[in-house]
Amino acid sequence: MSDNYSKVLLEESEMPTQWYNVIPDLPTPPPPPLHPGTLEPIGPDDLAPLFPMALIMQEVSTDSYIDIPGEVLDVYRLWRPSPLLRARRLEKALDTPAKIFLKYEGVSPAGSHKPNTAVPQAFYNAQEGVKRLTTETGAGQWGSALAFATAQFGLDCEVWQVRASYDQKPYRKTMMELWGATLHASPSNLTEAGRAILATDPDSPGSLGIAISEAVEQAAQSEETRYALGSVLNHVLLHQTIIGEEALLQLAKVGETPDLLVGCTGGGSNFGGLSFPFLREKLAGRMDPVIRCVEPAACPSLSRGEYRYDFGDTGQLTPLVKMHTLGHTFIPDPIHAGGLRYHGMAPLVSHIYNLGLVEAEAIHQTECFAAALQFARSEGIVPAPEPTHAIAAAIREALRCKETGEEKVILTALCGHGHMDMAAYEKYLAGELVDYEFPEAAIAEAMANVPVIN
Ligand SMILES: *Cc1c(COP(=O)(O)O)cnc(C)c1O
Repeated sequence: MSDNYSKVLLEESEMPTQWYNVIPDLPTPPPPPLHPGTLEPIGPDDLAPLFPMALIMQEVSTDSYIDIPGEVLDVYRLWRPSPLLRARRLEKALDTPAKIFLKYEGVSPAGSHKPNTAVPQAFYNAQEGVKRLTTETGAGQWGSALAFATAQFGLDCEVWQVRASYDQKPYRKTMMELWGATLHASPSNLTEAGRAILATDPDSPGSLGIAISEAVEQAAQSEETRYALGSVLNHVLLHQTIIGEEALLQLAKVGETPDLLVGCTGGGSNFGGLSFPFLREKLAGRMDPVIRCVEPAACPSLSRGEYRYDFGDTGQLTPLVKMHTLGHTFIPDPIHAGGLRYHGMAPLVSHIYNLGLVEAEAIHQTECFAAALQFARSEGIVPAPEPTHAIAAAIREALRCKETGEEKVILTALCGHGHMDMAAYEKYLAGELVDYEFPEAAIAEAMANVPVIN
């Protein structure tokens, strides 16, 4: 291939047909989730009210590879394989010798990487006779992805959308309704968890932790209903590995190996999806990239949180999982990267970080939006607020390369477009976007509510 390409494509026939499970390749497995009552490791039966057995088995699987069902591959083919972009115009604007690659997931119907897991989750639920899925959504991307996926397999979909985002992003709501989903602003008065929050704070802007409690409570009450989570869990990260598997093939086509992977981390799924196949290569000694998580300075669960057992939701309905956490009652400041406003981090990403296999840095939102502007003006694509963190981190590195003259190959996931996020860009352009101080006191308060488990 000549060296003046700006994107690397795969044929449909080259699309990977298996997901990769990183757990068997790690030096130690991640600590198990615990039952909040007995503090014993939970078994598959404990999760059965919430998830179909196929997903529970994937959650605890020790197989390295899992076949992607044909029905799922058929839906993936609506947009996959996704392109690998080479950001030549950005490189030129930065005057850097570094090469910047972006795996672009904004080409999916919902505009992010989330359909990569929404589709198999809807498929396995439908296969096991489930009629309805409940879920939460923060920025609206996960709700959109699940609304799209459930429409593919004839399931009903009920979404609790964090109040702040429900009010700020009316078009995400319309998008979900267009695919057939039913929407509720969270906290709602439809659930005990929601009513409890409203009783103390009738104007609560909501949080992902609260919305999860509402969706879980509803699913647990009905035999025909299950719950779907868009990030954090092992099976979600598993489904997202199609991103990294494709990127490996695409980089090989142009004869490149990455020196640095950077990904934004909310719950860890786009990061895990991109990086785990490369971590496999690293652990096998076939390449040696630095792998870095980027998180918002207003919600820095990896770099400033503690690695402890905590609840996944505010209402304490989920199992206890060992993860980097800011405390399940922590409500982050309203930064525009709604998808990164989660108090915890995927147990798998937390474990890998704790093993020293990946690093983390936190960046404030104004630097991220400045990076997004430079990116949009050079490469054209308007990124979602979440991957602006990854772009800012890539630009930081590319500018360091300019100083040192290193020709590093940088790979990141451009995990969604920002077409539904114009309100955030409008604020940025008007000079109204602010950075929030590291919320030390709020985190200390929330950490006091984290159970003490030895
Ligand atoms: C949901 C979302 C995120 C955050 O979730 P992860 O599980 O960390 O990937 C980031 N970017 C986009 C575009 C999202 O939709």
